[in-house]
Amino acid sequence: MKPPPLRYLRAHDPEEAVELLAEYGDEAKVIAGGQSLVPLLNFRLARPSVLVDIGAVTPWATLVSGDRSLELGALTTHLRIERAGGTEPFRGLEVLPRTASLIGHLPIRSRGTIGGSLAHGDPAAEWCILAVLLDAEATLCSGRGERRVPLTRLLQGFFTTTIAPDEVLTAVTFPRTGAAASLVEHAPRHGDFALVAAAAAAEPADGVCRRPRIVLGGVGPTPVRVPDAEDVLAGRALTPDVVAAAAAAAAAAVDPPSDAHASSAHRRRLVATLVTRALTHVGGRAREGRA
Ligand code: FAD
Repeated sequence: MKPPPLRYLRAHDPEEAVELLAEYGDEAKVIAGGQSLVPLLNFRLARPSVLVDIGAVTPWATLVSGDRSLELGALTTHLRIERAGGTEPFRGLEVLPRTASLIGHLPIRSRGTIGGSLAHGDPAAEWCILAVLLDAEATLCSGRGERRVPLTRLLQGFFTTTIAPDEVLTAVTFPRTGAAASLVEHAPRHGDFALVAAAAAAEPADGVCRRPRIVLGGVGPTPVRVPDAEDVLAGRALTPDVVAAAAAAAAAAVDPPSDAHASSAHRRRLVATLVTRALTHVGGRAREGRA
């Protein structure tokens, strides 16, 4: 299949990108890495009449590393994050490079961007899950100015976000909490989208869990936090019994969909297994003093 006829416009700087989106509004779609949008165009599931390519807007590919947060420009590719593992900017946020390696295949990781993934809003996308887990915030820009939105408010449903047609996502900011974190997933084949993914984080304090967080992907229209399972963990050591109880609570708390890829019951069993695995990683990393 080929995309429907459309106009292709390339923005060279942030001002030009914002102007083009203000001019074409509903008719236009931003294109970044094209790894989700091009298949949608080819299958005619998206039918914009204008594409605004932001790939040359280099200020949106910068990385700003501060003491309290790491800001990644929206055009940062999955591969750049993967290859940055062990470098100073990702200190305390090593879960980001580790997780990048799970996304698709090398050609997809070399072109696909973190901003594109968040704007696309797939509930099983690794960046959407981690952004919710780690309380990340998106920066959005339009002719009306700039605003910052927590990812929990940006992601509204299956492939649905609160990004307005004239807005562009320019960066995502991850706070440095010092939490140990892990994301694990099950996909039928390496490089496929995960059927289910589980991410966990906890701040270690005197051998017990502080601020435990569990977020699941592939079980609902957005990444889902599971407070019932987090309550099991709060203030307790991550012993095998406590981990098993939290995993059981997570599986009981969700009502995953059945589809051609997996039944609801299978997804629920995956939740229990993957939460156990993620929490075991978190416990191990916290004991070693690693994030
Ligand atoms: P694009 O395809 O360019 O755009 C995607 C959507 O976001 C479009 O609606 C576009 O208008 C919008 N958009 C893009 N950037 C912005 C912006 N800055 N501001 C506002 N709107 C914007 N993803 C995963 O998470 N995990 C996987 O395992 C995975 N496997 C894949 C396997 C295959 C075979 C393929 C083809 C894709 C896979 N992907 C996977 C998707 C891939 O990671 C994409 O790179 C990502 O979802 C979108 O990033 P992009 O830069 O390519 O965005």
